[in-house]
Amino acid sequence: MKTMDAIALDKKYLMQTYNRFGVTITRGKGAYVWGDDGKKYLDFVAGVAVNNAGHCHPAIVKAIREQAAKLIHASNWFYNEKQSELAELLVGISPKGLKRVFLCNSGTEAVEAALKLARKKTRKHKFITMEKSFHGRTMGSLAITWKEHYRKPYEPLMPGAVFVEYGNADAARKALDGDVAAVIVEPVQGEGGVNVPPEGYLRELRELCSEKGVLLIMDEIQTGFGRCGRMFACEEEGVLPDIMCVAKGLGGGFPIGAIVVTEEASSAWEAGDHGTTFGGNPLGCAAAVASLKVLVKEKLHLNAGKMGRILLEGLNGIESKKVKAVRGKGLLVGVEVHGEARPFCERLIKHGLLTSCPTKSVIRYSPPLMIGRMEAGLAVKASKEVLS
Ligand SMILES: *Cc1c(COP(=O)(O)O)cnc(C)c1O
Repeated sequence: MKTMDAIALDKKYLMQTYNRFGVTITRGKGAYVWGDDGKKYLDFVAGVAVNNAGHCHPAIVKAIREQAAKLIHASNWFYNEKQSELAELLVGISPKGLKRVFLCNSGTEAVEAALKLARKKTRKHKFITMEKSFHGRTMGSLAITWKEHYRKPYEPLMPGAVFVEYGNADAARKALDGDVAAVIVEPVQGEGGVNVPPEGYLRELRELCSEKGVLLIMDEIQTGFGRCGRMFACEEEGVLPDIMCVAKGLGGGFPIGAIVVTEEASSAWEAGDHGTTFGGNPLGCAAAVASLKVLVKEKLHLNAGKMGRILLEGLNGIESKKVKAVRGKGLLVGVEVHGEARPFCERLIKHGLLTSCPTKSVIRYSPPLMIGRMEAGLAVKASKEVLS
């Protein structure tokens, strides 16, 4: 089974920027993955909210195979059928009013695009961002990311980031002066520990931004494409952002990101104002077209809502002094424990369940959106055994 010692080679040759769990994953199918020792795991990480249709969905595999044999990459100097097709599909499922797309390769690039567009559109430089937020690791998105540990060693960063309390629209109002280009917010904070804001919060932010003439950037990179039980989480409050950032779930595992923007915001960019070599390449777009079609056809967002309720209820039913809180929306669920979460994640692996810990004290459950009652039940059962 094992053809090489991946762990030894990793430790020798790779920069040790990840505190990895001791499993080498070699294969995946649906909600399950297999280690190089042949062991099967129920995957409640899903590439961190990426593999929404499950691992190696036949339609996505087929689309990638066919496109790879036809054209992998050309250039944004030329038109591209797959890019056009994807843009139409993406606009079709996005909140009504978001009409234009810029394609890139990752979440952080989508955020960078949003920041640049907002600055050019408003000619202002500040961004209101949230405590406990996460927007990426490049210099701009890093500057508006909360965790000091991520930011400090790289200062000076992009100036103009102003942090306010998440879930408190009044705090955003107080910070909003005449130099602000945009407010950026996650509808549910993922990396911050699965934080769900109070009802009405996003709507209040929308009203505030409209009143003050600043842009609202919705970071749906983790919450988008059905994860939270709607196609996009901001739809729950009927909120239309000026710019929506997406990535993770878009390509079925293939790296691709995008911003989807209103016609009004989009008008700030002309030819030459932004660009990328790989963004929107035919292979990535073919993967994204296939995964969006699967999402719509299989109504994965509705299943995420249903299974999310079962998972949340099951986890809430665990009686244990170790559990501090259980929260989430759809299939983005967190269990906050007293003390460290990581040892619990490690014990869950021994029970055949993969989870992740976005913060020191939170276990995150972000399975593929196609799981059934059985998988939700298995995850609850393993969690019960480990937590009680
Ligand atoms: C993952 C994530 C990002 C960054 O995406 P990358 O593809 O890792 O650059 C940005 N914002 C949110 C909300 C995320 O969850």
